[in-house]
Amino acid sequence: MGYRVAVWDQDPDAPALRAADFPLAAPFTDQGALTAFSAAVSVATYEWENIPVTTVHRLAESVPVHPAPAILQILQNRLNQKTFLARHGIPVAPFQPLERPEDLERALSVGLPALVKTTTQGYDGKGQWRLLGPDDVCQVREALLRQQSQNPSEGQWIVEQCLAFAKELSVLVVRGAGGDVRSYPVVENVHEAGILRTTCAPAAIDQLVATQATALAERVVMALDGVGVFCVELFLMPEGTLYVNEVAPRPHNSGHYTIDACPVSQFAQLVRVLCGLPLGEVRLTSPAVMVNLLGDDIVKVTTEPVIQTFLSRSNARVHLYGKKSVRPGRKMGHVTFVADTPEAAWAAARTLLGLLGYDSTEETEQPSG
Ligand code: ATP
Ligand code: MG
Repeated sequence: MGYRVAVWDQDPDAPALRAADFPLAAPFTDQGALTAFSAAVSVATYEWENIPVTTVHRLAESVPVHPAPAILQILQNRLNQKTFLARHGIPVAPFQPLERPEDLERALSVGLPALVKTTTQGYDGKGQWRLLGPDDVCQVREALLRQQSQNPSEGQWIVEQCLAFAKELSVLVVRGAGGDVRSYPVVENVHEAGILRTTCAPAAIDQLVATQATALAERVVMALDGVGVFCVELFLMPEGTLYVNEVAPRPHNSGHYTIDACPVSQFAQLVRVLCGLPLGEVRLTSPAVMVNLLGDDIVKVTTEPVIQTFLSRSNARVHLYGKKSVRPGRKMGHVTFVADTPEAAWAAARTLLGLLGYDSTEETEQPSG
């Protein structure tokens, strides 16, 4: 788009640094780095929630930052986030704060099954414990005590009722500084062990549910007075009720398909927001299914001839992130299948999952309408 880009990351191996005109590898608490970065940019955003919010506040003293640091402050702590949403009348799973592992039993008043989550630093389902029944209380309490002794600064947890949802959905909402709001189509996400595995665009849901999901997501962004790209993760219950799971103040993994299946991707939209350009179109140009490449999947995709032959024949768009080390469950890349019908895109995604060695059980079954 003609702009020059500065990237600040703590990890010198971060792939984005290699694409930047002004790469800066330094801790987010480094004052010299903050000064240099502030001087280099005319506008800034972030695409990770776990930056110290004070750094973002400081940056915002010299240049416009979207979304505003106050929003990051609300969202980067799960308890603040859920409290904010509940206060604004947004439906969320029943939750309770948990300050001491000893109080776990009391916090389970939210109902069982329940999930205990760290209030900060969690992602991809990390920092979460599931309690199916009273028998699990002891074990989880021990785990929390262990975490507390290893990491005394991390402290708090939130206990949430585990909702028996029918589907997980998400909506990407783009809002410009002038107030223009656009939402991409509602998509459906399937997680495996807390990690996103596939996204289907569009979600196979009734038009009414899609309209309600979009309205709910936009309500969340309006409540935050958000400017930027936001992803609102939702649970759709069997009877049609919607709950907000969490909100990300940035482009989201469930929106990666927009690179290949929309006129303007979530990333290009964010540049438009930051630079004050008119927002772009958010429609789907074709149905798409995105498959995340987790851990070793990337080795298979780049070395196994059967997989490469399949990908070359199936209208697959392969995106590899260039992360240096492969770790189990780490998001290493993704493949987007675009097709004339959602069924065809899904069939291709399912074949890839099979070739990667995941059996086509329940979890990889096509989400049905
Ligand atoms: P990510 O960074 O991948 O979005 P995360 O680690 O921030 O994830 P959540 O989104 O809170 O954590 O949880 C990950 C997944 O765990 C959810 O997508 C959902 O599948 C499941 N989950 C979380 N909370 C609940 C809940 N209250 N009821 C049922 N399932 C839940
Ligand atoms: Mg999530």
